This record gives sequence, C-alpha cells and structure tokens, in this order.
Amino acid sequence: MAAAAASHRRPVKDSDLQKMPAKGGHTTLSDSAKPTATDAVPLPLYITNTVFFTLFFSVVYFLLLRWREKIRNSTPLHVVTLSEISAIVVFFASFIYLLGFFGLGFVQSLIIPRSSHDEILDDDEIIEDFDQMMLKEDSRAAPCAAAPPTDACKISSPKPIKKIVDDFLPVVPLSPEEDEEIVKSVVEGKIPSYALESKLGDCRRAAAIRREALQRTTGKSLDGLPLEGFNYEAILGQCCEMPVGYVQIPVGIAGPLLMNGVEYSVPMATTEGCLVASTNRGCKAIYASGGATSIIMKDGMTRAPVVRFGTAKRAAELKFFLENPLNFESLSQLFNSSSRFGRLQNIKCAVAGKNLYMRFCCTTGDAMGMNMVSKGVQNVLDFLNKEFPDMDVIGISGNYCSDKKPAAVNWIEGRGKSVVCEATIPEEVVKKVLKTDVASLVELNMLKNLTGSAMAGALGGFNAHASNIVSAVYIATGQDPAQNVESSHCITMVEAVNGGKDLHISVTMPSIEVGTVGGGTQLASQSACLNLLGVKGASKEVPGANARLLATIVAGSVLAGELSLMSAIAAGQLVKSHMKYNRSTKDVRK
Ligand code: ADP
Repeated sequence: MAAAAASHRRPVKDSDLQKMPAKGGHTTLSDSAKPTATDAVPLPLYITNTVFFTLFFSVVYFLLLRWREKIRNSTPLHVVTLSEISAIVVFFASFIYLLGFFGLGFVQSLIIPRSSHDEILDDDEIIEDFDQMMLKEDSRAAPCAAAPPTDACKISSPKPIKKIVDDFLPVVPLSPEEDEEIVKSVVEGKIPSYALESKLGDCRRAAAIRREALQRTTGKSLDGLPLEGFNYEAILGQCCEMPVGYVQIPVGIAGPLLMNGVEYSVPMATTEGCLVASTNRGCKAIYASGGATSIIMKDGMTRAPVVRFGTAKRAAELKFFLENPLNFESLSQLFNSSSRFGRLQNIKCAVAGKNLYMRFCCTTGDAMGMNMVSKGVQNVLDFLNKEFPDMDVIGISGNYCSDKKPAAVNWIEGRGKSVVCEATIPEEVVKKVLKTDVASLVELNMLKNLTGSAMAGALGGFNAHASNIVSAVYIATGQDPAQNVESSHCITMVEAVNGGKDLHISVTMPSIEVGTVGGGTQLASQSACLNLLGVKGASKEVPGANARLLATIVAGSVLAGELSLMSAIAAGQLVKSHMKYNRSTKDVRK
C-alpha cells in the first residue's frame, strides 16, 4: 500500500501535477501499465485518506482518555479491555497507512529525484494518451452523445468522450494558484495545450488556462473574445477542439416568411449590415403576395470513394457490377445495416483509367448525413473487397461526392436536398414594397443572373446573393458553414406573367445540405434558432421531415433575399442603402 501510495504522489514535473489523479495523470509508462494497490481501493483516494485520518485521531483521543482514567483510578496500564485492544489495532493500522502514504513517498521523492528521461517519457505519454483519445474519437462513428444511439454507433463501440473525461477527474479541486502552475506548464511546453480537457476534466477551466497560456506565449491580448457564458462541455469531441472562447455573431430575424401556408421567423447570424433588413423586405413582399411555395424534389446525401485496379478493364467490371440492378438489393441491405436512417438510393460510377469513383447517394433522416453515408459506404467497401480482392481502396472520399468544393456533379445531380421555391408578386407589391417595376426586374435578372454569370463561367452561381442568406441561416441554425459552397448553388428565374403585369420569381437550389440533429445543431444557441423555426431535433412523426422543412425554409429565405436585392439594384438603391446600413457613422478615431 505504501509503495502504491508513493507512486500516486510521486512528483512529476510541477507541483500542480502531484494533485492530479494517478489514473490518467502523469505517471511513467510502466506505472500506468502496472496495476497499483490503490487501484484495488473501492473508494476514491481522498475518501480513503479522510477515513484513515478520522480513525487515527479518534483512537488516539480514545486511548488518551482511557489512559487518564487508568492513572486516576490507579489501574495498571497493561490491563486492557477489548475496546482498548481494538483501538490499539486501529491506531497501528491507520498509523502505518498514513506513514506509508505521506512519509515514504516524501522521503523517496527527496532521495530519488526524477530523471530527465522520466520527464520525456511523461510528455510522450501525454501525447500518446491524447493520440489514443483522438484515435478513439476518429473511429467514433457518430457523435452518439448528442442523439439517441443507433445500432451502428454500438457496432463501433467508441468510448464515450464523457467517460474519457470522467477517468481524468481530479481528486482535489484545484485552486487559482494551482491554475497558475498549470498555465506555466503549458507555456513551458510541459503540458500540451490539447491535453488540458482530459487532464483537468473541466472543459471551462481548460479553456481558461489555454487562453491565458496563449496570451502569454503570443504576447497578444484576447480581451474582447468572451470566455464566460458558454458550455464548453457541449463542444467537446464534437464541435471544436482547443477552445479559448467564442466569437459572438449577432442574430437578426427576417420575416414572417409565409411559405406553404405557414409563417416562419427566420434567424440569420451575420455581421453584414443590410442583409437581414433586405431579406425582411423580401419576406414582406412575399407575404403581401399571398406567400411562396417550396417543394423538395430530391433528398440524398452522397459520398464517393475512389478505388484503383491493375487495369481499366477491372475498374469497368466493378462499375458494371455496381450498376447491375440484380446486385443493388444486396448492396443496399449491406449499406442500410449501418444505420437506422441511412437508406441507399443509388450508386453513380465514373471511371478514370484504372480508377473508379462510386458516388453513393442515400437518405439520412434529419441528419445532414455525412457521417451516416460514410458508415454505409465503409460497409459496402468491406464487402466489395472480398468480391474484388484486387481492388485497392485509395480513399473513402475521392472528391466525386463532392463536399465543400464547387463541382458540377452537385449542380447537376444534386446533393442533400434539391429544392425549388416560387412566388408570384403582383405589380402593386413590386411597386409599393420593392420600389421598382416588373420589366426592370426581368431585364436585370436576364442580364445579371443569367448572362452575366454565364460570361463569368459560373458554376451554380446564377443568382444575386444566395450564399449571403444560406450562410447566415446556416450559422444561426448550427449547420456546417463550409457547405455553403454547394448549398448556395442557385438559379434565380424571373418572368413577367399575367399579361406582363405581375412577376413570377423562383429559386432552384439542387444541393442544400442541412440537418436538425448532429454537429452544431445541438448547441444551445443554434438549437434555440431551430426551435424558433419549429424544426429542432429529430422529427417525431416522419424521420427527415425536420431537415427537409429546414431546406425549404432556406430556399424561401433565399427567394426573399433575391427579390429584395434585385429590386434594390434595379431601383439603383444598392449603394445608397449600403452606405446607410453598412457604414457606421461612429467616428472610429475616437
Ligand atoms: P451527420 O451524419 O450529419 O454527420 P451525425 O452522425 O452527427 O450526423 O448525427 C446523426 C446521429 O443522430 C446518428 O447517430 C443518428 O442515428 C442520430 N439520429 C437520431 N434521430 C435521427 C433522425 N431522425 N434522423 C437522422 N439521424 C438521427
């Protein structure tokens, strides 16, 4: 016990680390591998210590009382009762424990100072611990903590991140002086910044320490970047690593957007002046015109691995195999077994010499679906490897998917939700709300969004500013903002109807990639914005209904944004209103 206790207390590099738990704390590699006697203690160490301390002082007190009584009554000291024998046994037992725990370790630490080699081992171990954790996280099929686990989550049996943190919970809550010691260790490179969460088991404190260390190492102040008021536990292992604070983005509301007979207040997170006001004006015009109609035409997330063969002939053979309808049934069974929600729709193949790109497309319920589709694809690849042993899997993603890059395949085939949204705006509304006329809007759309974009060689960019609205709604609702690349693909069509009096406007957006579960959607602010739209979390009635509704709202908001900006340009108001709303009148020199 004494030796074990000593190993628990052995100083590592800094005094602060002594107070960290041995389990997951800084022990040598061999220490961490070896089970120690204290591991067998069923109670946490500090409780065990408290018990022994209490026992020790209680029996000392008891024995002293008895001693005094015996002297008073002239009873010989060697005549002892059963209770006194027990007290003496407990006295020795607790004395040995406390001596072992506090005495030997201290003496040992003075006699045997730690070698620098040990220190190197420790650092390596921290890195190794963290790498292990990252590996576990990488192998994590999905952030199951945020949502009910699927069977697939169970298959990969990741160690939940919460559990990893629990293992590292400090035995004694640390004080500001101890925080200071840890900051110093981070600055000196003795503790890797990335390992703070796992070492401390307190994400907010880890962020505060990292932030302070960062300020000291860079010599730059982070004043203005808030730390408090954010749940750092919620982002751990799912949304952001090594946090030092959070950026505040104002959320404005455009609306009501009247679409398919329902009114929506659309949250937009942006720092671009005019954007919310302009979208709001578009919503007003749509509302005054009786609302917009939005339809989902297609729903399927994609992932396209790239595999290589020895010959182009073999690559073509796999293409034929995948495209044979007789094989689809068994392939989809394999694919679907990876998730409750992922359902394979089709596989589109493209050959480039000896290489084959297989674009798997599947429905993903209310999730945006990248993790889900990847799991299904992995299942099919494992099977294909047996059928085509000469197949070499080069990568689970071969860019034919295509994620977060402008690509014609998304523009033509669609990715995520393919949506079309339309509205007919009466002449009067065009005049009164949009301050322009139908003919000017039709002409501008033709010359700007169609011809101008064609001249620029646009890929899916046949619109005025779809990405403005997409990005603002994405940030507010916890979508992946990088997917605004393909999610903003949009062609805006404008026509004069009803004898040239009224305006028909539509936006066609083939690849809106949104989800209402997973990723950033579970964070408090983003979740509140989803709640405002009535699409928070998984749909209880029809899986996928919330995500699909969100996609239609995105398209409806884009329609409003297009209508308003196009009108401002047609009326020659753009520069004027931007000067008014985008340029602060504040004297920045002050
Ligand atoms: P993504 O695939 O978009 O990256 P995640 O894998 O992060 O999404 O989140 C999806 C997780 O949510 C999966 O574990 C899935 O089983 C779970 N889930 C719960 N309800 C639903 C639902 N209605 N639709 C889709 N996924 C759901």
